[in-house]
Amino acid sequence: MTVGGNVWPRTGEIARRGDPRPSHLRGAVWIVTYLLFVLAPLFALLLGSHPPARGLWTEFSVAIGYSGLAMMALQFGLTARFRYVTEPWGEDVIYHFHRQISLVAVALVVAHPIILFIARPELLSLLNSITAPWRARFAALSTYSLLALVATAVWRTKLRLRYETWHLLHLVLAVAALAAGVLHMVGWSFYLDDPWKRALWIGLTILSFVLLSYVRIVKPLFLLRRPYRISEVRQERGDTWTLVMQPDGHAGFRFRSGQFGWLTVWGSPFKISAHPFSFSSSAAVTDGRVAMSIRKLGDFTSQIDDVPVGRRVYIDGPYGAFTMGNPADLHVLVAGGVGITPMISMLRTLADEGDKRPVMLLYGSKTWDEITFREELEALKARLDLTVVHVLENPPEDWTGERGFITAAVFKRHLPPAYANHEYFICGPGVMMDAIESALGDELNVPMSKYHSERYSFV
Ligand SMILES: Cc1cc2nc3c(=O)[nH]c(=O)nc-3n(C[C@H](O)[C@H](O)[C@H](O)COP(=O)(O)OP(=O)(O)OC[C@H]3O[C@@H](n4cnc5c(N)ncnc54)[C@H](O)[C@@H]3O)c2cc1C
Repeated sequence: MTVGGNVWPRTGEIARRGDPRPSHLRGAVWIVTYLLFVLAPLFALLLGSHPPARGLWTEFSVAIGYSGLAMMALQFGLTARFRYVTEPWGEDVIYHFHRQISLVAVALVVAHPIILFIARPELLSLLNSITAPWRARFAALSTYSLLALVATAVWRTKLRLRYETWHLLHLVLAVAALAAGVLHMVGWSFYLDDPWKRALWIGLTILSFVLLSYVRIVKPLFLLRRPYRISEVRQERGDTWTLVMQPDGHAGFRFRSGQFGWLTVWGSPFKISAHPFSFSSSAAVTDGRVAMSIRKLGDFTSQIDDVPVGRRVYIDGPYGAFTMGNPADLHVLVAGGVGITPMISMLRTLADEGDKRPVMLLYGSKTWDEITFREELEALKARLDLTVVHVLENPPEDWTGERGFITAAVFKRHLPPAYANHEYFICGPGVMMDAIESALGDELNVPMSKYHSERYSFV
């Protein structure tokens, strides 16, 4: 093992790419498709044969229950890691949306019985699961599963659930909630007398399970046939290890610098144990090799230096929209701690491509010795139009550079003043990212479209 980074070796042919950002049009098409799916149950209520009206509140409660369930069904699509769907926004935004919209969906589903019980108190007897008919028991099972789903997601850390245990539980509860919800609806049959309305719901349910099978069966099978081998394990500064991986019996994939992949080291891709890591190597490498640089933080990452050279691993990727577009007047990379990994990939790629656009890296670290890729960043200055500003939390006594945290004042001291003209890329701990985003937005008046964030937590 060697300490410190070597510049990733150049490999002859270097691909030139145009602006890789997916079009806004595709994003708009997906939003409309999503709304159509969510609103489809409401349209279905309005069309076809109508049962005798049962009063406004009863009808309203049924309508919101339907929409909530449709939203729940679509969650399987949101988390299916379809690159074509997630690319316009980036995986972190999709997961954020998944979390927020789940709360809306659960609120709608839970509001459905509450409104019903207030409007028609005689229905309260359905809460007795011993005497209630099956369709009401399914409703209770669906609602309790949803509540458990939210509680375990919101309080996962407080409940001391291991990530892997929680993930499995999350899947089981989601499947139980959806299946029981649909059985309740089909069993009640009030609005589903029309065969085509029934078909709509059964179709939506089947679609959800197809999506789930794709993620949990088809995709792992595909990954199993395209393994990687660890070719090097390299220690870096700052308790970080770089794994270099090469495709085993296939050509691998190309990625854009700033993207990430899901890595499975111990076990097969069928196990729910993949962890997301940015690629730290140059995207200009054409022989399929990729590297990930991993900081020791928790139970999986703390064993990263035990990974033996030659071990078979699996990488699902590339994903993410944290990528550079056309040259802006200045690219400003803002990294905190291990958030340097997508940035080093960007810099290595620019260097390999001979791209001399001006780049400034503002890099927050705890100490001088813990600056991951410190020597390599220095070396890259010779190959790039690169300025590096280190900001140290605990600097040595003779340190004359920036100290503390990256703030609006640091930006003002180092950036040319037309702040809104630059393009910003931010990656680091959550608190740092919140502070940087509000410094850019509130103090430097940089529009949101000019900064891109990669958050290192989906949960
Ligand atoms: C897009 C993205 C890119 C990332 N890139 C890097 C990188 O280049 N280098 C690096 O060191 N770290 C990176 N991370 C963070 C890394 O994924 C977590 O540190 C790691 O998964 C923690 O696992 P653990 O078991 O060691 O820690 P734990 O103590 O088990 O978990 C710490 C926290 O990490 C999160 N986490 C754990 N397991 C997973 C999982 N399987 N999927 C999603 N989140 C999980 C949870 O929020 C958990 O609370 C990235 C994260 C994301 C989302």
